[in-house]
Amino acid sequence: MTDVKVVAAAGTRCGTCAETLYLTAQVPQPRSSRTRTVGLCPQCDAGRPETQGLLAYFAEHQRVRPEDLHQVHELVGRWLEALTERADRDGSLAADVEAWWAARAG
Ligand SMILES: [Zn+2]
Repeated sequence: MTDVKVVAAAGTRCGTCAETLYLTAQVPQPRSSRTRTVGLCPQCDAGRPETQGLLAYFAEHQRVRPEDLHQVHELVGRWLEALTERADRDGSLAADVEAWWAARAG
């Protein structure tokens, strides 16, 4: 798990359901030097066990509070782990990156 970048979605819409995304992440492509961007959608990702904690957090908080950074970091890690596992099967996701995670958290 290296070179993954997570950013606040900053109003980016889900390509599937047009819901506003909570986060986007740039994930390295397997067997490639390119990355792909995936979004955390409150609608489309609602049924996934690995996103439950993150979705609940962002449903309650507009942004990550400094005291929650560690908790959110863990939740994001779980989401990304599942994403990279799915990456082999699903190669069609794309979204614009609008703000770096660090900028949102700071
Ligand atoms: Zn969606």
